[in-house]
Amino acid sequence: MAPTVNWSGSRQLLRQLRDTMRSSGSAESRLQTIVEVIASEMKASVCSCYITRAGEVLELVATQGLNRSAIHQTRLRIGEGLVGIVAAREQTEAFEDAPSHPQFAYRPETGEDPFHSLLGIPILRSERLLGVLVIQSLEARRFEEDERESLETIAMLLAELIASSEFLSDLEKRGIDYQTVGTPRLVGQGLVKGFARGFVAYHDQEILIRRFVAENETEEQDRLSAAMKALQLSLENLSKMGAVAGDQQSREIMNAYKTIAADRGWLRKIREAIKTGLTAEAALHRTITDYRARFNQITDPYLKERVADINDIATRLMKHLVEQSEGGVIRDKDLGNRTILAAKTLGPAELLDYNPENLSAILLEEGSANAHAVILAKSMNIPVIARIKNLFNTINDGDEVLVNAHENSVIVRPRNAVADLFEESVQAFHRRRSEDGAQSALPSITKDEKEVGLFVNAGLMMDVAHLEETGAAGIGLFRTELAFMARQGFPTVEEQTEFYTSVMNSAGQKAVNFRTLDVGGDKVLPYWSNGHEENPAMGWRAIRVGLDRPAMLRQQLRGLIRAGDGKALRVMFPMISEASEFFRAKEIFDLELAHEKASRDVEPNSVSVGIMLEVPGLIWQLDQLAPHLDFISVGTNDLLQFAFAADRNNPQLSNRFDTLSPAALALLKSVAECGNRHGVTTTVCGEIAGSPLEAMALIGCGFNNFSMSWSSVSAVKAMVRSLDSQAIAEYVEYTLTRSYQSLRQPLLAFAKDHAVRL
Ligand code: PEP
Ligand code: MG
Repeated sequence: MAPTVNWSGSRQLLRQLRDTMRSSGSAESRLQTIVEVIASEMKASVCSCYITRAGEVLELVATQGLNRSAIHQTRLRIGEGLVGIVAAREQTEAFEDAPSHPQFAYRPETGEDPFHSLLGIPILRSERLLGVLVIQSLEARRFEEDERESLETIAMLLAELIASSEFLSDLEKRGIDYQTVGTPRLVGQGLVKGFARGFVAYHDQEILIRRFVAENETEEQDRLSAAMKALQLSLENLSKMGAVAGDQQSREIMNAYKTIAADRGWLRKIREAIKTGLTAEAALHRTITDYRARFNQITDPYLKERVADINDIATRLMKHLVEQSEGGVIRDKDLGNRTILAAKTLGPAELLDYNPENLSAILLEEGSANAHAVILAKSMNIPVIARIKNLFNTINDGDEVLVNAHENSVIVRPRNAVADLFEESVQAFHRRRSEDGAQSALPSITKDEKEVGLFVNAGLMMDVAHLEETGAAGIGLFRTELAFMARQGFPTVEEQTEFYTSVMNSAGQKAVNFRTLDVGGDKVLPYWSNGHEENPAMGWRAIRVGLDRPAMLRQQLRGLIRAGDGKALRVMFPMISEASEFFRAKEIFDLELAHEKASRDVEPNSVSVGIMLEVPGLIWQLDQLAPHLDFISVGTNDLLQFAFAADRNNPQLSNRFDTLSPAALALLKSVAECGNRHGVTTTVCGEIAGSPLEAMALIGCGFNNFSMSWSSVSAVKAMVRSLDSQAIAEYVEYTLTRSYQSLRQPLLAFAKDHAVRL
């Protein structure tokens, strides 16, 4: 094969491919024609296309040059063989002498023995791996840059054909035999980021009940009372553990939990069940089964998480009852180190039962960021992936798994090659982290000396604790509702003042943007109900509640003003959808300010009031509103979910639109331009602000400030310091006028060409 494709040849090739893609015929026959065209135009001995199946297996689906009979027969795991390496790394890889590579996986059915060089290009769409395009040549040779470029462009086109066709569903129907191929890969939601490699232990809650019918009712009632006492005592002891006692949020969680444990309602039910002739454990079992059934009907995510708490308490109480009757102690499973705990749900006390030293990660079939156990795991730095479908169907007790909570994935029973690649990427990640971390004291400034403000998002004191080490300029978004959610009752003004004061004190001289409560919708407080809503994200939430129930908003503002006495106070209102809402909220704020000054002589040194831009409709009023704002914070999590009508919490939709699509960037660019036009500081504080590639694109759109999770600051700063802001601005401007597809690949290419650190 000779390197013959230059750009004019490539254009002709692309035209041919486009015509083939548009032609009639099945997707598979079009794909076959495409590989034939590529092989002929690029003078390659072989051109093949592999498609990813079930997220873990690469199947040969079209080839020119290999035996056609191998189509649908040859399958490789991701990470297996050279094609598998390309897939695992998701980057173009060239192998001059493929058969001599230690990971070469020979498949006799393909007849690929005579070929030496191999160039593999991942077929990616919205960061999702759809397959691998491969060319091979008879002789050992180097591949030129323009060949790679041509094939990367072709791979982008192929991604569209594969994603839009009946192809994938056809393949899915064909079924997959996991006995012969496949390292199962599960996906969920990475709630606490991190990596882990270890062995699964099921979190087993079931306790066998041996006696159902009571002989003596009074005895059973006494046994219940004794077990309750023992339960309360054991909870007290857990609360005194170092991991809990040293952390305010963890203490509050355990207090909330103890209140549930002491709840008279369910105790009364157990006592009534004992009166019907059941033993204490059988009565507990019946009561709890009833509770679970009722809670399972609830859609409210906060209350749903309380099922985990109740399960946890019931299991604990059951253990105490069984201990009494059997006279022994039920020991928790002895965990080896490197244990990956797999549970349906997990309560906070259940988590604390395990020695955190032995826990490498937690996998949950249910669970959400609201779960008490998840918040505790975060404070203990244990990675968590939740909402994993089919967890227990796919993973066996004792299985080895690779957990990547940064990418929300779990690889089950990995082959050595896959595990080695995983270890390699974990090491690279940590290397990169420590290199980036070394930059924390350096200024956040681009190569062309533009300052980029980097801030952290926080909501718990444990997030604030990381502010100093990141070198961030302050807290760009403080989500006040998180502290409210960990409690059992609405905090008083004094309690709020104390909390906000401790946040400001921890932040020292650095700015803190407090966001007023974003409750309602799916963020529900246990002590405050807003009834059932069909569409909670778009429901009665955030400032809408604040304006309709001003007492709640006033109390919070009072707490904030008091905490800001003699300091710089910065407050913003969430989910403003039209200018008038801001003016009404600001009026309430001004009244409180005047009241606090008059009645207590409390007065912040300076006051800045801004909004969260999360509702697309407001963009059309932003020019009128901006002159009245001290700052704008762009909540892209909500803004984009509403702009694309795609629920941000629905994993099925997570790849539905690309945050780097021309539409998303054009929308965000118009917001940045509006902020800049009016000289109002505009900060992006949604998840995308913490991704170096996205943040690079946003600098190109005109944003100069970003607020993100503390763990992302160093990586974003490394990107900023390697970027020329003028060059990216020109590039974004240019590509936005030319591309109809995602700008992700062009932006990645820009970063590569300009040595931007991603
Ligand atoms: C957002 O919507 O982008 C945002 C930062 O707010 P939250 O994620 O708390 O809704
Ligand atoms: Mg939001």
